[in-house]
Amino acid sequence: MFNGKCLCGAVQYSSPGPALFSVVCHCRDCQRASGTGGVPVLGVPKASFRQVGPLKQSRVVGGSGRPAVRNFCPECGSLLFGTPESASEMVTIYAGTLDDSSVFCPTEAIFVRQRPAWAALAIPLSEHSALPQPQTPNCGGAD
Ligand SMILES: [Zn+2]
Ligand SMILES: [Zn+2]
Repeated sequence: MFNGKCLCGAVQYSSPGPALFSVVCHCRDCQRASGTGGVPVLGVPKASFRQVGPLKQSRVVGGSGRPAVRNFCPECGSLLFGTPESASEMVTIYAGTLDDSSVFCPTEAIFVRQRPAWAALAIPLSEHSALPQPQTPNCGGAD
């Protein structure tokens, strides 16, 4: 079970899982959207994902050529999850918003060519300059 919420608590979500993939995305779009060097992303099935509370969306065309939709709390601005049009059957949870973020177990780092040295990860992950094959559903990367 993956439960989470935004900083102010106005938006809450839950998913029974399973985790379809767990990556850290270092694409420039994720860096700009989050203000960090890489965003931890957990893919879950959209069919069983539930969310309550108000949302705003930012829509930016990602590396897939389709809009990457990032959902955030209109009250506190927390980035919560993506609903990529290039993979409409899933939701991409930003792992820092999980109630227990230790359940996030990333296996891969993607778009590492765009990762600054100061954002190197403390744990060893399989690294990819873009998206691994078969294609990992994108959080919205622009490579
Ligand atoms: Zn909020
Ligand atoms: Zn990204």
